[in-house]
Amino acid sequence: MKSENPIFNHPTLQLLEKCETLRTLKQLHAHMITTGLALHTYPLSKLLLLSSTLAITYALSIFNQIPNPTIFLFNTLISSLTNHRHHTHIAFSLYNRVLSHKIITPNSFTFPSLFKACGSDPWFYHGRALHTHVLKFLGPACDHFVQASLLNFYAKCGKVGVSRYLFNQISQPDLATWNSILAAYARSASSGCDTSLSLEVLCFFNEMQSSSIRPNEVSIVALVSACADLGALSQGAWAHTYVLKNNLKLNRFVGTALLDMYSKCGCLDLAYQLFDQLRERDTSCYNAMIGGFAVHGYGHRALSLYERMRLEGLVPDDVTFVVAMCACSHVGLVVEGCEIFESMKEVYGIEPKLEHYGCLVDLLGRAGRLKEAEERVRTMPMHPNAILWRSLLGAARVHGNLEIGEVALKHLIQLEPETSGNYVLLSNMYASIDRWDDVNRIRKLMKDHGINKMPGSSLVEIGGAMHEFLMGDKTHPYSKEVYLKLEEINRRLSEYGHKPRTKEVLFDIEEEEKEDALSYHSERLAIAFALLASDSTSVPIRIIKNLRVCYDCHVSAKLISLIYVREIIVRDRNRFHHFKDGMCSCLDYW
Ligand code: ZN
Ligand code: ZN
Repeated sequence: MKSENPIFNHPTLQLLEKCETLRTLKQLHAHMITTGLALHTYPLSKLLLLSSTLAITYALSIFNQIPNPTIFLFNTLISSLTNHRHHTHIAFSLYNRVLSHKIITPNSFTFPSLFKACGSDPWFYHGRALHTHVLKFLGPACDHFVQASLLNFYAKCGKVGVSRYLFNQISQPDLATWNSILAAYARSASSGCDTSLSLEVLCFFNEMQSSSIRPNEVSIVALVSACADLGALSQGAWAHTYVLKNNLKLNRFVGTALLDMYSKCGCLDLAYQLFDQLRERDTSCYNAMIGGFAVHGYGHRALSLYERMRLEGLVPDDVTFVVAMCACSHVGLVVEGCEIFESMKEVYGIEPKLEHYGCLVDLLGRAGRLKEAEERVRTMPMHPNAILWRSLLGAARVHGNLEIGEVALKHLIQLEPETSGNYVLLSNMYASIDRWDDVNRIRKLMKDHGINKMPGSSLVEIGGAMHEFLMGDKTHPYSKEVYLKLEEINRRLSEYGHKPRTKEVLFDIEEEEKEDALSYHSERLAIAFALLASDSTSVPIRIIKNLRVCYDCHVSAKLISLIYVREIIVRDRNRFHHFKDGMCSCLDYW
């Protein structure tokens, strides 16, 4: 139909497509007025689209001169405006004009772009009002695009439950809708620390597979990032094979997700192999690989990749600076890290953000330059957040600087009165120097705030299935065997001269229970189970832990890797530990 109407192929429209300046745009506009082309909706929509990208005021003045703009023209301009965050308010004022219009009403093309615009901060509230408009104008059975955009909107506001509800209303979800729900859950999972959302992604993906819809690259990215979060290596590797077998594109999005997954599952070599093979590599791709090297403790490799990235002409972004500084931090390259921080502003003209100050404080703190770190926190241009104070507290704990630790905790309790980790850090600090009165004081403080310690949990993958263990957990079907194995492990550990260091054990555990409690930390149960489940020494044991590994478990894991000749890879909240032949890749610095 399009080719039959001469207006669609008018030479002026072809010129319009090539137009790059406001000057030529105005010339073409004048030409369209004289030829009468400007009276037709389609050429007008093209003109509006282009002018809204070149000069928004000009676009609006064109629009205001259209005698009876159709809903198509309204939609065109609204959607173009919502591509720029600071034009959202103009888009909404146009939408208001649609609402007060006597003849036209919003249709299913009006809403998706507005919902997209509502997905970022001050606009959340408007999105919910807009939802009622969808019900009013389109009814509950609106088309898939509107449903998908609604679902995405709620997911971005962190309301995945509502997204799921909307998803369940759709009788036969198409590919776009499946991808929306997959991405919604994957995104929410990566922004928090709730692994159950990632498990949901895996469930949704299985459901999708049993429908007639075939996953595409977007679905795979969501699946793979969920696998990365869970440390579900076999499922992640399966996704990789799926891409290859079904001729899906190994584009930079899929490639980055896969290499990030391999790296987060502890297979840094596979991650690097993939990185090397990728044809198109952008900044995010480099960020994932540099970040991978960083958390695995290969600071120097991370930095040389950072160098290579710049040589390739790619411009570092906010994330690059975070991962590069984090790489320096993990291996104590203080000078290099500080240089990177300074280069942000001096070389790239990027103003450091809160997270960059966070990296800097972490870097200085770990290196024992606590005074300097504290000074940075006090003098930075924005208000320090809890993460910053926590890394200062962490550094104070490692270097035994109580004075700074106490200051940091005071700020932390104000910012996050309900986070148990903060109290635990300081309390462990007091415990390590036998200041038990202070330990009790902190314990009382926690009680007063009604806080319970977050239970440690470890995930381990055996034969493609994920097994979860909590501290002191007895719910696993092989619990009895696991505890027997644990006894054997403890016996062999003490044969090797291991004496549990109990000082760091949680203060809410009675003294006599301490030694026991240590050996029941979730990662110990997971290791015992993995040793039981497979004795093939060539397969490393991979564990994902939600908290930081404690001192005693770290020492024990090193010894177990030696005694049982088994590589153990633990991803804790901060980083990776590769335990092999009695050593750990973090060189006891974590
Ligand atoms: Zn432990
Ligand atoms: Zn380690």
